[in-house]
Amino acid sequence: MRFENQVALVTGAGRGIGAAIALRLADEGARVACVSRTEANAKRIADQINAMRADAARPYAVDVANHSGVQKVGARILDDFGKVDILVNNAGITRDGLAMRMSVEDWETVINTNLRGAFSFTQSIIRVMTKQRSGRIINISSVIGLMGNAGQTNYAASKAGLIGFTKSLARELASRNITVNAVAPGFITTDMTAGLSDEIKNTIQSKIPLGKTGTPEDIASAVAFLASEEAGYITGQVLCVDGGIVM
Ligand code: NDP
Repeated sequence: MRFENQVALVTGAGRGIGAAIALRLADEGARVACVSRTEANAKRIADQINAMRADAARPYAVDVANHSGVQKVGARILDDFGKVDILVNNAGITRDGLAMRMSVEDWETVINTNLRGAFSFTQSIIRVMTKQRSGRIINISSVIGLMGNAGQTNYAASKAGLIGFTKSLARELASRNITVNAVAPGFITTDMTAGLSDEIKNTIQSKIPLGKTGTPEDIASAVAFLASEEAGYITGQVLCVDGGIVM
């Protein structure tokens, strides 16, 4: 029970990687604010956690790209739980297309969701975390933010941006005993990757040294480690959880 008496806020907790992170932190004792764009998805995961442990989770629906909406939900979460010890900025989307043809709307939607959303949620809880003089912030980036990928300039820029955000925030908050790290997943089986053709999936898989795609639980394990006491001397780092794609 590494997270007993701790409160975690997980964005994009409704499905995929975020759901696995919320369930894992709850399983290890945390109470969890489950944030998703869709109320029903947030509620489904919160209900699942509450079935494990009564009153351990609450659902919140907000578009992370809506800065003022995020400030309101952040304040509600602090009211409901009294504090946030662990913030996981996981909500993310793709809107792929070649840069030559990409609409400004697709560019902005991805940047505002993946990058500005993390800034907005961080800003909503940072004062309280600073006063606590302890905390963990974990941003879910991507190996694409390190390597780039044709057809994903918007996504790669948002994920590389998250890495710069992580390192700068780590420097700002280190003196307050708050660590800030990023996890860079490789190819993880979720709704986000479900739509890719078998051909693309096979090509990707052939480039993974460990020879298989990852699971949401693989990412949840890395997040749980970075959120734990054992990771107290680690800050400003990017942990690739990718079967060896980046090395
Ligand atoms: P999914 O598409 O399976 O789930 C995304 C989650 O984010 C959903 O819960 C969704 O909410 C939420 N979300 C999306 N947009 C918003 C928004 N504007 N406001 C609030 N919540 C939002 O994605 P994954 O689980 O695969 O990805 C999670 C994170 O991991 C993302 O940041 C992604 O970029 C990153 N990642 C994923 C990889 C992969 O291979 N899957 C690889 C590298 C990084 P709702 O359920 O309500 O729609």
